[in-house]
Order: sequence, then C-alpha cells, then structure tokens
Amino acid sequence: MDMTELARRIMAQDRRALARAITLVESSRADHRAQTTALIEILRETSDSQALRVGLSGTPGVGKSTFIESFGLMLLREGLRVAVLAVDPSSARSGGSILGDKTRMEHLSREPNAFIRPSPAQSHLGGVARRTREAVALCEAAGFDVVLIETVGVGQSETVVAEMSDLFVLLLAPAGGDELQGVKRGIMEMADLILVNKADGDLKAAAQRTCADYAGALRLLRKRPQDPEGFPKAMTVSALQVEGLETAWSEMRALTRWRRETGHFASRRAAQAEYWFGQEVRQGLLAQLDQPEVRALMQDMGREVAQGRVTPTAAALEILEKLRANR
Ligand code: GDP
Repeated sequence: MDMTELARRIMAQDRRALARAITLVESSRADHRAQTTALIEILRETSDSQALRVGLSGTPGVGKSTFIESFGLMLLREGLRVAVLAVDPSSARSGGSILGDKTRMEHLSREPNAFIRPSPAQSHLGGVARRTREAVALCEAAGFDVVLIETVGVGQSETVVAEMSDLFVLLLAPAGGDELQGVKRGIMEMADLILVNKADGDLKAAAQRTCADYAGALRLLRKRPQDPEGFPKAMTVSALQVEGLETAWSEMRALTRWRRETGHFASRRAAQAEYWFGQEVRQGLLAQLDQPEVRALMQDMGREVAQGRVTPTAAALEILEKLRANR
C-alpha cells in the first residue's frame, strides 16, 4: 500500500482510508509499524488541520456513551465533525468493555460526519497509548474538528488520556451521600471540567449536591497556571435529557479560547510531545529488557546476587553492558 496515496485520501476525508490507516496503526507487525511511521510523517508535513482533543473519563455506568452520543450529535448540529476514540487497557481481558458494543452511540455512529473507533484489543497500556496518539493524529489530518478520547479510568489510563488531550473532562454520577465518590485527588487535579451527569428526574437534587461538593473540592486545589478565573469548573448535565450540554460546550470553548490566547494551549501540546518522547524512550528500554536472552541473564544474575556472589550494582552493570552490546 502506498502511504502517500493513503495520506492523500485521509486528508480528502475518506473515512474508509482513515479506518484502514487506524488498523495499520493498531498492528504490531514490524512492516506495518514502519508504514505507520512513514504515514504519520507524511501527514505531519502536509496537513495543518488541528482538532480540539477532548479527553473524557468516567467509571462504567456514569453515562459516557449516552453523553458522547448526545454531545456528539449536538456538535454535528453545529456543523462540526466529530471523531471518538477509546483508551481501554481492559478491553483485551473483558472482550471489549468500552466501545466494543455496537449498540453504543447508535445514532452518532450512523452520522456521516462522525467517526467512532473502539479501543484496540490490547491490554498493554503503553501500546494502547501510542496507538491512540497515532489514531488522534490521523483523525486530525482527516479534518475532524473535535476528537473525543474516552476512557473508563482503569489504572493509569486517565493519565494517558489527559496527556493527549487539550481538555480533560471527568464525568460523574450523582452520589448517594455527600462523600466525594472516592475520586482520587490526582484525577481531580487533571480535570478541566467535572460534569455530574444524570441531573434529571429523581436524581436531579442529588446531582446538584454532588456538583456543589465537587465545586467546593475544586476550589481547594492549587491554582494551575493554565486556568482562567473560575476553572476548573463543576457543572451538572443530563446526557439522557440533553440538558446542560450546550453550556458545557460553551465552557469548553471559552477555556480553549483563553488558553490559545495566553499560549497555554500550545505550551501544553509541547509539554505533551516531550512527555511522550520520554515515555517512548522508557518503553523502548523496557522492551529491550524483555528480550528472552536478557531475561534469562537477569534471572541468572538475580540468583548470583541472592547468593551473595556478586553485588547488585555489579550485576546491574553487567546487564546494562549486555544491552549495549546487543545494539
Ligand atoms: P457508560 O458505561 O459510562 O458508557 O454509561 P452508559 O452511557 O451506558 O449509561 C449507563 C446507564 O445510565 C444507562 O442505563 C443510561 O441510560 C443511564 N444514563 C446515562 N445518562 C443518563 C442521564 O443523563 N440521566 C439518567 N437518568 N440516566 C442516564
């Protein structure tokens, strides 16, 4: 397959070409990896379209798919093109816990200006992260205005998504009591917007209380330089009744505008690029450690160290020497 031609078709907004390219990105075959790298490079050089990357996290059942469906359709009505990707390190184990189910986002998935891609069936978070970042780049080149990156928040997946998003949205359900649903402080600190969903019917009052609790908790967090007055913000929405979504979107736009004007938007992307560079180097080194002969040597050396025949430092140096020699 000719990568220049594939790149041309992606930029011409050919959805089949995009889907095909993402399949390529998800492949771990060495020749596919090389093609992917070439493709991304061509797109980087020739495409200047930029999407707003919105990360969306929430535990199963909070209403992520309902939200994406309603929110996505609203964006389409505004004339925007919307892509939805997922980071789900659990999908290999559970057989696709998010976005795998065809009935999710039923209406959105039928829209010509929407593109929905389930998480690749691969459990290793590092691999999922790279594939998703590359898929985001492809969607961006394909002219999507908004790329939603969804995660269920398993392990480190929120960090992964936040580090590839311009905006990070945390979706929550109304809490029964007044406790903060055990949302970890680190995750709250990543959020630009907390949306308490299901603010409708019997749940409305509880949603408003939960929202007030989170608004209070957000005010206690250290002020971040990338936030204008009033951010991060907590709001109530109802994905089902399609309420509060326009307000949420206008808050996202206001925040984005402010960050663009103040340079925080560009500097965040720059910092993210640097972060992923570091991650890739680390992963590359770890992959080297994973080679069978290195692992065998590690085991042997481990025994030697345990028996006191060699010091941990000397043994480690020997392993590092071996890695250098392998190169
Ligand atoms: P996900 O697991 O986070 O993707 O959650 P879903 O979108 O599948 O929603 C889980 C359940 O919550 C479903 O039964 C939805 O109908 C319900 N739900 C989602 N959004 C709302 C909402 O805004 N209000 C109410 N009352 N229920 C909702």
